Amino acid sequence: MPQRLAILGATGSIGTSTLDVVAQHPERFEVTALAAGRNVAQLAPLVARWRPRYVAVADHAAAADLQALGLPPGVELGVGDAAVVALAELADVDTVVAAIVGAAGVRSTYAAVRAGKRVALANKESLVVAGALLMQAARAQGATILPVDSEHSAVFQSLHGHRPADVRRIILTASGGPFRDWPAEAMANVTVEQALRHPNWSMGAKITIDSATMMNKGLELIEARWLFDCEPDRLDVVIHRESIIHALVEYCDGAVVAQLAMPDMRAPIAYALAYPERISSGIAPLDLVQCKTLSFTAPDEKQFPCLAVAKAANRRGGAAAAVLNAANEVAVSAFLAKRIPFSAIADVVDATCTRYTDPRGETIDAALATDTEARRVATAILRERHS
Ligand code: NAD
Ligand code: MG
Repeated sequence: MPQRLAILGATGSIGTSTLDVVAQHPERFEVTALAAGRNVAQLAPLVARWRPRYVAVADHAAAADLQALGLPPGVELGVGDAAVVALAELADVDTVVAAIVGAAGVRSTYAAVRAGKRVALANKESLVVAGALLMQAARAQGATILPVDSEHSAVFQSLHGHRPADVRRIILTASGGPFRDWPAEAMANVTVEQALRHPNWSMGAKITIDSATMMNKGLELIEARWLFDCEPDRLDVVIHRESIIHALVEYCDGAVVAQLAMPDMRAPIAYALAYPERISSGIAPLDLVQCKTLSFTAPDEKQFPCLAVAKAANRRGGAAAAVLNAANEVAVSAFLAKRIPFSAIADVVDATCTRYTDPRGETIDAALATDTEARRVATAILRERHS
């Protein structure tokens, strides 16, 4: 029987790459459900092509637009967060691809895990906001969380066949983004257009800005802590501008196991979908002779203060990471809307983490209430400093 998929965030960068992999294996997968936010013009052709039984969109305006474009007969259309959560829990879905961007994806990821699904997890913010809760729920319900983030997929693959107790260190690589060669002083005047021009990866706008500030790597350290049950002081980052090695695991005997591939998200997506098997993904083969050089440098936290702020939140633990994430989402949207300069992203996040010191996160509702409150604090800080 084909694997029945619910793809949440179907119109995004990961959603589109997922459907590209699925299209290469029509006998293997069935698209049962698709969810997206408001980009109906992009969703309508996906519904027409894949004929899912269930579709969900973020609001009533998007639903009306989608209906106006014409839905194939028999499609059930749901609206809002509750409808997206319902898709994650469907009895006729085996695998949920969690590819919504931001904390908007937390509830549906949590629902999928609680429903015991196989979860191909791209939405790193879910683990940042509610990592402990998600991992607990996965253990309790027998859900399998398969990382889609390329570094975490690489760690997952490099851990195969080894005992967790033998791991000394996990090292995530980072491209360094578009500003890796810029002096720290020049970063204040970065434009939105420059920040959106990633040298190695083509991704959605939010994660592209996170890569430019290196907050993305900070979020990934938090993600790795939960996924691999690894304390923050055994997690490292190295800048590797070619993005060929995606992560490395160092063992107690000094041996290091790494995973290499061309930088194309279809590889980790195919691995998460087919695990423990491997299927073709469509990515270009790796030609090491063509690559010539694989280079490594240490990240400069003066140049990328977001990395330091994220590491501090990871060490603090509790719900500190939920505050970090919410503040970052507020600051990144303000930067994308050209309301604050690039360097203000780190300032707003740092100030929010300093001001909001007693966040709660014992339940999913508490973690999401913290998210809401942290957005309020970050917005207030933005107004004080940048209006
Ligand atoms: P994107 O902006 O391209 O797509 C986001 C998707 O989420 C869209 O389909 C959008 O319609 C949907 N969405 C947004 N809000 C929604 C809501 N309230 N309800 C339902 N759907 C909603 O983002 P992306 O680059 O594909 O990233 C998705 C996630 O994957 C992020 O968490 C990101 O950090 C992670 N990720 C992405 C990449 C990548 O290469 N793009 C790599 C690693 C991890
Ligand atoms: Mg990544």
